[in-house]
Amino acid sequence: MDTTETITREELNLAPTIAEELIEQARAEAERQAADYAPGEKEALIERIKKLLREQNAVLVAHYYTSDDLQQLADETGGHVADSLEMARFGSEHPATTLVVAGVRFMGETAKILNPEKRVLMPDPEATCSLDLDCPPDMFSRFCDAHPDHTVVVYANTCAEVKARADWVVTSGIALPIVRHLAADNKKILWAPDKYLGSYVRSRTGCEMLLWPGSCVVHEKFKADGILRLKQQYPDAAILVHPESPEDVIALADEVGSTTALINAARRMENRRFIVATEPGIFYKMKEAAPDKIFLEAPNAGVGATCESCARCPWMAMNGLRNLARTLETGDNEILVEETIRREAVRSIRRMLDFARKQTISTGQGNA
Ligand code: 13P
Ligand code: SF4
Repeated sequence: MDTTETITREELNLAPTIAEELIEQARAEAERQAADYAPGEKEALIERIKKLLREQNAVLVAHYYTSDDLQQLADETGGHVADSLEMARFGSEHPATTLVVAGVRFMGETAKILNPEKRVLMPDPEATCSLDLDCPPDMFSRFCDAHPDHTVVVYANTCAEVKARADWVVTSGIALPIVRHLAADNKKILWAPDKYLGSYVRSRTGCEMLLWPGSCVVHEKFKADGILRLKQQYPDAAILVHPESPEDVIALADEVGSTTALINAARRMENRRFIVATEPGIFYKMKEAAPDKIFLEAPNAGVGATCESCARCPWMAMNGLRNLARTLETGDNEILVEETIRREAVRSIRRMLDFARKQTISTGQGNA
Protein backbone atom coordinates (compact mmCIF):
# COMPACT_ATOMS: atom_id res chain seq x y z
CA MET A 1 0.00 0.00 0.00
CA ASP A 2 1.20 3.53 -0.83
CA THR A 3 1.89 5.07 2.58
CA THR A 4 1.28 8.65 1.50
CA GLU A 5 -2.42 8.23 0.91
CA THR A 6 -5.59 8.98 2.80
CA ILE A 7 -7.67 5.90 3.57
CA THR A 8 -11.25 6.36 2.41
CA ARG A 9 -14.25 6.36 4.74
CA GLU A 10 -15.73 3.44 2.78
CA GLU A 11 -12.62 1.31 3.36
CA LEU A 12 -13.02 1.84 7.09
CA ASN A 13 -16.79 1.47 7.12
CA LEU A 14 -17.12 4.96 8.59
CA ALA A 15 -20.43 6.78 8.09
CA PRO A 16 -20.14 9.16 5.08
CA THR A 17 -20.45 12.24 7.32
CA ILE A 18 -21.10 13.18 10.95
CA ALA A 19 -24.86 12.85 11.55
CA GLU A 20 -26.47 16.26 11.12
CA GLU A 21 -28.78 15.50 14.05
CA LEU A 22 -25.81 15.35 16.45
CA ILE A 23 -24.82 18.83 15.36
CA GLU A 24 -28.41 20.03 15.70
CA GLN A 25 -28.66 18.58 19.24
CA ALA A 26 -25.49 20.42 20.22
CA ARG A 27 -26.79 23.67 18.70
CA ALA A 28 -30.07 23.31 20.62
CA GLU A 29 -28.21 22.90 23.93
CA ALA A 30 -25.93 25.81 23.05
CA GLU A 31 -29.00 27.98 22.47
CA ARG A 32 -30.39 27.01 25.88
CA GLN A 33 -27.11 28.01 27.49
CA ALA A 34 -27.00 31.32 25.67
CA ALA A 35 -30.71 32.14 26.24
CA ASP A 36 -31.32 35.69 27.45
CA TYR A 37 -30.65 36.30 31.14
CA ALA A 38 -33.29 37.76 33.46
CA PRO A 39 -32.20 41.12 34.94
CA GLY A 40 -29.32 40.49 37.37
CA GLU A 41 -29.15 36.74 36.57
CA LYS A 42 -25.81 36.84 34.78
CA GLU A 43 -24.09 38.89 37.50
CA ALA A 44 -25.48 36.53 40.17
CA LEU A 45 -24.24 33.47 38.24
CA ILE A 46 -20.76 34.94 37.93
CA GLU A 47 -20.59 35.73 41.66
CA ARG A 48 -21.83 32.22 42.52
CA ILE A 49 -19.23 30.59 40.27
CA LYS A 50 -16.41 32.69 41.73
CA LYS A 51 -17.45 31.73 45.27
CA LEU A 52 -17.74 28.02 44.38
CA LEU A 53 -14.34 28.00 42.68
CA ARG A 54 -12.76 29.50 45.82
CA GLU A 55 -14.59 27.18 48.24
CA GLN A 56 -13.71 24.06 46.24
CA ASN A 57 -10.05 24.90 45.52
CA ALA A 58 -10.99 24.73 41.86
CA VAL A 59 -9.49 26.42 38.80
CA LEU A 60 -11.22 27.17 35.50
CA VAL A 61 -9.33 26.27 32.31
CA ALA A 62 -11.09 27.45 29.15
CA HIS A 63 -10.39 27.03 25.45
CA TYR A 64 -10.21 30.07 23.15
CA TYR A 65 -13.41 28.93 21.40
CA THR A 66 -15.60 29.23 24.50
CA SER A 67 -17.77 32.29 25.06
CA ASP A 68 -16.34 35.68 26.01
CA ASP A 69 -18.04 35.32 29.43
CA LEU A 70 -16.21 32.07 30.21
CA GLN A 71 -12.87 33.37 28.98
CA GLN A 72 -13.25 36.51 31.08
CA LEU A 73 -14.22 34.45 34.12
CA ALA A 74 -11.19 32.16 33.72
CA ASP A 75 -8.92 35.22 33.55
CA GLU A 76 -10.56 36.93 36.53
CA THR A 77 -10.37 33.89 38.79
CA GLY A 78 -6.71 32.96 38.26
CA GLY A 79 -7.55 30.28 35.70
CA HIS A 80 -6.31 30.12 32.14
CA VAL A 81 -7.53 30.56 28.55
CA ALA A 82 -5.45 28.57 26.11
CA ASP A 83 -5.12 26.16 23.20
CA SER A 84 -5.38 22.44 23.82
CA LEU A 85 -1.64 21.89 24.41
CA GLU A 86 -1.38 24.69 26.95
CA MET A 87 -4.64 23.64 28.66
CA ALA A 88 -3.08 20.22 29.30
CA ARG A 89 0.16 21.71 30.58
CA PHE A 90 -1.51 24.31 32.81
CA GLY A 91 -3.95 21.81 34.37
CA SER A 92 -1.18 19.44 35.37
CA GLU A 93 1.05 22.14 36.84
CA HIS A 94 -1.62 24.06 38.78
CA PRO A 95 -1.99 23.17 42.50
CA ALA A 96 -5.84 23.25 42.53
CA THR A 97 -7.48 19.97 43.52
CA THR A 98 -10.38 20.44 41.08
CA LEU A 99 -9.91 21.34 37.41
CA VAL A 100 -12.98 22.74 35.69
CA VAL A 101 -12.49 22.35 31.95
CA ALA A 102 -14.59 24.54 29.66
CA GLY A 103 -14.08 23.08 26.23
CA VAL A 104 -14.87 19.75 24.63
CA ARG A 105 -14.79 16.26 26.09
CA PHE A 106 -11.29 15.27 24.95
CA MET A 107 -9.88 18.25 26.83
CA GLY A 108 -11.53 17.11 30.08
CA GLU A 109 -10.33 13.55 29.48
CA THR A 110 -6.78 14.71 28.84
CA ALA A 111 -6.87 16.66 32.12
CA LYS A 112 -8.06 13.54 33.98
CA ILE A 113 -5.53 11.25 32.29
CA LEU A 114 -2.71 13.55 33.36
CA ASN A 115 -4.11 14.22 36.84
CA PRO A 116 -5.85 11.12 38.20
CA GLU A 117 -5.64 12.49 41.75
CA LYS A 118 -7.60 15.62 40.82
CA ARG A 119 -11.33 15.97 40.34
CA VAL A 120 -12.08 17.09 36.77
CA LEU A 121 -15.45 18.68 36.03
CA MET A 122 -16.95 19.94 32.79
CA PRO A 123 -20.01 22.15 32.29
CA ASP A 124 -21.29 19.56 29.78
CA PRO A 125 -19.39 16.30 29.15
CA GLU A 126 -21.61 15.67 26.10
CA ALA A 127 -19.72 18.47 24.35
CA THR A 128 -17.77 16.39 21.87
CA CYS A 129 -15.81 17.08 18.69
CA SER A 130 -16.40 15.79 15.16
CA LEU A 131 -12.83 14.49 15.01
CA ASP A 132 -13.39 12.43 18.14
CA LEU A 133 -16.70 11.13 16.73
CA ASP A 134 -14.93 10.32 13.47
CA CYS A 135 -12.44 7.98 15.13
CA PRO A 136 -14.19 5.10 16.93
CA PRO A 137 -11.61 3.18 19.02
CA ASP A 138 -12.47 -0.31 17.72
CA MET A 139 -12.08 0.71 14.06
CA PHE A 140 -8.95 2.65 14.89
CA SER A 141 -7.45 -0.32 16.68
CA ARG A 142 -8.05 -2.55 13.64
CA PHE A 143 -6.39 0.08 11.45
CA CYS A 144 -3.32 0.07 13.74
CA ASP A 145 -3.22 -3.74 13.74
CA ALA A 146 -3.14 -3.67 9.95
CA HIS A 147 -0.03 -1.42 9.94
CA PRO A 148 2.25 -2.71 12.69
CA ASP A 149 5.35 -1.14 11.10
CA HIS A 150 3.97 2.42 11.52
CA THR A 151 4.41 4.82 14.43
CA VAL A 152 0.94 5.82 15.60
CA VAL A 153 0.48 9.57 15.99
CA VAL A 154 -2.94 10.84 17.05
CA TYR A 155 -4.30 14.33 17.33
CA ALA A 156 -5.39 15.34 20.84
CA ASN A 157 -9.00 15.60 19.55
CA THR A 158 -9.62 11.89 20.22
CA CYS A 159 -11.03 9.79 23.05
CA ALA A 160 -8.91 8.18 25.79
CA GLU A 161 -9.06 4.71 24.16
CA VAL A 162 -7.59 6.05 20.91
CA LYS A 163 -4.84 7.85 22.82
CA ALA A 164 -4.15 4.59 24.67
CA ARG A 165 -3.38 2.94 21.33
CA ALA A 166 -1.05 5.74 20.19
CA ASP A 167 2.72 6.12 20.41
CA TRP A 168 2.41 9.91 20.36
CA VAL A 169 -0.35 12.45 20.94
CA VAL A 170 0.07 15.82 19.22
CA THR A 171 -1.87 19.08 19.09
CA SER A 172 -1.75 21.54 16.20
CA GLY A 173 0.76 23.57 18.24
CA ILE A 174 3.38 20.81 18.33
CA ALA A 175 2.53 18.48 15.41
CA LEU A 176 5.18 19.80 12.98
CA PRO A 177 8.24 19.51 15.26
CA ILE A 178 7.17 16.09 16.55
CA VAL A 179 6.64 14.69 13.05
CA ARG A 180 9.94 16.24 11.87
CA HIS A 181 11.62 14.50 14.78
CA LEU A 182 10.05 11.16 13.79
CA ALA A 183 10.85 11.69 10.10
CA ALA A 184 14.50 12.28 10.99
CA ASP A 185 14.41 8.80 12.52
CA ASN A 186 12.96 7.39 9.25
CA LYS A 187 9.67 6.51 10.90
CA LYS A 188 6.55 5.89 8.84
CA ILE A 189 3.48 7.39 10.46
CA LEU A 190 -0.08 6.31 10.83
CA TRP A 191 -1.93 9.57 11.48
CA ALA A 192 -5.44 10.08 12.86
CA PRO A 193 -7.99 11.51 12.73
CA ASP A 194 -7.78 14.91 10.93
CA LYS A 195 -6.94 14.40 7.26
CA TYR A 196 -6.43 18.12 6.60
CA LEU A 197 -4.01 18.66 9.47
CA GLY A 198 -2.33 15.37 8.50
CA SER A 199 -1.96 16.42 4.89
CA TYR A 200 -0.58 19.83 5.95
CA VAL A 201 1.96 18.16 8.27
CA ARG A 202 2.90 15.68 5.55
CA SER A 203 3.47 18.45 3.01
CA ARG A 204 5.62 20.46 5.42
CA THR A 205 7.73 17.57 6.73
CA GLY A 206 7.95 15.21 3.74
CA CYS A 207 7.26 12.35 6.17
CA GLU A 208 5.61 9.15 4.93
CA MET A 209 2.16 9.31 6.47
CA LEU A 210 -0.98 7.24 6.10
CA LEU A 211 -3.97 9.45 6.94
CA TRP A 212 -7.26 8.58 8.64
CA PRO A 213 -10.14 10.37 6.86
CA GLY A 214 -11.60 12.46 9.73
CA SER A 215 -12.36 16.18 9.61
CA CYS A 216 -13.55 19.08 11.71
CA VAL A 217 -17.09 20.11 10.74
CA VAL A 218 -16.21 23.74 11.44
CA HIS A 219 -12.88 24.21 9.69
CA GLU A 220 -13.60 22.07 6.63
CA LYS A 221 -16.34 24.53 5.68
CA PHE A 222 -14.05 27.50 5.10
CA LYS A 223 -14.10 28.42 1.42
CA ALA A 224 -11.06 29.52 -0.58
CA ASP A 225 -13.13 31.39 -3.22
CA GLY A 226 -14.99 33.39 -0.53
CA ILE A 227 -11.70 34.23 1.21
CA LEU A 228 -10.20 35.36 -2.11
CA ARG A 229 -13.19 37.66 -2.75
CA LEU A 230 -12.80 39.18 0.72
CA LYS A 231 -9.08 39.61 0.09
CA GLN A 232 -9.88 41.50 -3.15
CA GLN A 233 -12.07 43.82 -1.10
CA TYR A 234 -9.35 44.26 1.56
CA PRO A 235 -5.99 43.68 -0.19
CA ASP A 236 -4.13 44.87 2.92
CA ALA A 237 -5.57 42.04 5.05
CA ALA A 238 -3.41 39.13 6.22
CA ILE A 239 -5.01 35.68 6.17
CA LEU A 240 -4.74 33.54 9.33
CA VAL A 241 -5.70 29.87 9.02
CA HIS A 242 -6.00 26.97 11.47
CA PRO A 243 -4.51 23.83 9.87
CA GLU A 244 -7.73 21.82 10.30
CA SER A 245 -8.88 23.72 7.18
CA PRO A 246 -8.82 22.33 3.60
CA GLU A 247 -5.61 22.51 1.53
CA ASP A 248 -6.86 25.28 -0.80
CA VAL A 249 -7.64 27.48 2.23
CA ILE A 250 -4.27 26.76 3.84
CA ALA A 251 -2.61 27.66 0.52
CA LEU A 252 -3.94 31.25 0.87
CA ALA A 253 -2.62 31.75 4.39
CA ASP A 254 -0.05 34.27 5.53
CA GLU A 255 0.09 32.32 8.81
CA VAL A 256 -0.98 28.74 9.52
CA GLY A 257 -0.98 27.54 13.10
CA SER A 258 -2.65 26.59 16.35
CA THR A 259 -5.05 29.00 18.01
CA THR A 260 -2.18 30.40 20.10
CA ALA A 261 0.00 30.82 17.00
CA LEU A 262 -2.79 32.73 15.23
CA ILE A 263 -3.26 35.09 18.19
CA ASN A 264 0.49 35.67 18.31
CA ALA A 265 0.50 36.39 14.56
CA ALA A 266 -2.28 38.96 14.97
CA ARG A 267 -0.19 40.70 17.62
CA ARG A 268 3.10 40.46 15.71
CA MET A 269 2.17 41.18 12.08
CA GLU A 270 2.04 44.76 10.89
CA ASN A 271 -1.22 44.44 8.94
CA ARG A 272 -4.17 46.37 10.37
CA ARG A 273 -6.75 43.90 9.11
CA PHE A 274 -6.99 40.10 9.29
CA ILE A 275 -9.19 37.48 7.66
CA VAL A 276 -9.42 34.69 10.20
CA ALA A 277 -10.24 31.08 9.25
CA THR A 278 -10.94 29.51 12.62
CA GLU A 279 -13.68 29.46 15.25
CA PRO A 280 -14.77 33.04 16.05
CA GLY A 281 -14.48 32.53 19.84
CA ILE A 282 -10.81 33.34 19.21
CA PHE A 283 -11.68 37.01 18.54
CA TYR A 284 -11.98 37.67 22.29
CA LYS A 285 -8.26 37.06 22.85
CA MET A 286 -7.22 38.39 19.42
CA LYS A 287 -8.83 41.74 20.17
CA GLU A 288 -7.18 41.77 23.58
CA ALA A 289 -3.79 40.99 21.98
CA ALA A 290 -4.19 43.57 19.18
CA PRO A 291 -6.88 46.08 20.20
CA ASP A 292 -6.29 48.45 17.27
CA LYS A 293 -6.62 45.81 14.57
CA ILE A 294 -9.69 44.65 12.63
CA PHE A 295 -10.67 40.98 12.43
CA LEU A 296 -12.97 39.55 9.77
CA GLU A 297 -14.52 36.08 9.83
CA ALA A 298 -13.39 34.05 6.83
CA PRO A 299 -16.37 33.09 4.63
CA ASN A 300 -17.53 29.51 4.85
CA ALA A 301 -20.04 27.16 3.27
CA GLY A 302 -22.75 28.45 5.58
CA VAL A 303 -23.15 31.83 3.91
CA GLY A 304 -26.89 32.24 3.39
CA ALA A 305 -27.65 29.26 5.67
CA THR A 306 -29.82 29.36 8.76
CA CYS A 307 -27.15 29.19 11.46
CA GLU A 308 -26.15 32.55 12.89
CA SER A 309 -22.45 31.78 12.56
CA CYS A 310 -21.70 28.48 10.88
CA ALA A 311 -18.09 28.78 11.97
CA ARG A 312 -19.18 28.43 15.61
CA CYS A 313 -18.23 25.03 16.98
CA PRO A 314 -21.59 23.61 18.11
CA TRP A 315 -19.94 21.63 20.92
CA MET A 316 -17.77 24.41 22.30
CA ALA A 317 -20.91 26.55 22.45
CA MET A 318 -22.54 24.04 24.85
CA ASN A 319 -20.39 25.51 27.65
CA GLY A 320 -22.17 28.30 29.50
CA LEU A 321 -22.40 30.11 32.82
CA ARG A 322 -25.56 28.21 33.75
CA ASN A 323 -24.18 24.69 33.38
CA LEU A 324 -20.83 25.75 34.83
CA ALA A 325 -22.56 26.95 38.02
CA ARG A 326 -24.67 23.80 38.16
CA THR A 327 -21.73 21.42 37.83
CA LEU A 328 -19.82 23.18 40.60
CA GLU A 329 -22.89 23.08 42.84
CA THR A 330 -23.82 19.44 42.27
CA GLY A 331 -20.43 17.88 41.47
CA ASP A 332 -22.16 16.20 38.53
CA ASN A 333 -20.36 15.92 35.20
CA GLU A 334 -17.19 14.59 36.72
CA ILE A 335 -14.88 13.16 34.04
CA LEU A 336 -13.60 9.67 34.78
CA VAL A 337 -11.27 7.49 32.72
CA GLU A 338 -10.93 3.77 33.30
CA GLU A 339 -7.54 3.15 34.98
CA THR A 340 -6.04 0.63 32.51
CA ILE A 341 -6.88 2.95 29.62
CA ARG A 342 -5.60 5.96 31.53
CA ARG A 343 -2.26 4.29 32.22
CA GLU A 344 -1.80 3.53 28.52
CA ALA A 345 -2.99 6.94 27.33
CA VAL A 346 -0.85 8.93 29.73
CA ARG A 347 2.37 7.69 28.09
CA SER A 348 1.60 9.19 24.69
CA ILE A 349 0.40 12.49 26.17
CA ARG A 350 3.41 12.77 28.49
CA ARG A 351 5.70 12.10 25.54
CA MET A 352 4.20 15.16 23.82
CA LEU A 353 4.46 17.37 26.92
CA ASP A 354 8.07 16.32 27.54
CA PHE A 355 8.93 17.02 23.91
CA ALA A 356 7.23 20.45 24.15
CA ARG A 357 9.16 21.29 27.31
CA LYS A 358 12.51 20.32 25.79
CA GLN A 359 11.67 22.31 22.67
CA THR A 360 10.85 25.38 24.73
CA ILE A 361 14.15 25.02 26.57
CA SER A 362 16.18 24.55 23.37
CA THR A 363 14.49 27.28 21.28
CA GLY A 364 13.51 29.62 24.09
CA GLN A 365 10.05 29.78 22.49
CA GLY A 366 6.72 28.83 23.94
CA ASN A 367 3.85 27.05 22.21
CA ALA A 368 3.49 28.07 18.56
P1 13P B 1 -5.84 24.21 19.22
O1 13P B 1 -5.03 23.18 19.87
O2 13P B 1 -5.12 24.98 18.15
O3 13P B 1 -6.45 25.13 20.23
O4 13P B 1 -7.03 23.51 18.44
C1 13P B 1 -8.02 22.79 19.08
C2 13P B 1 -9.21 22.65 18.24
O5 13P B 1 -10.12 21.92 18.55
C3 13P B 1 -9.26 23.40 17.00
O6 13P B 1 -10.47 23.18 16.36
FE1 SF4 C 1 -13.59 19.68 17.23
FE2 SF4 C 1 -13.70 21.33 15.18
FE3 SF4 C 1 -14.98 21.93 17.43
FE4 SF4 C 1 -12.28 22.02 17.31
S1 SF4 C 1 -13.73 23.33 16.21
S2 SF4 C 1 -13.52 21.13 18.95
S3 SF4 C 1 -11.89 20.31 15.95
S4 SF4 C 1 -15.42 20.19 16.06
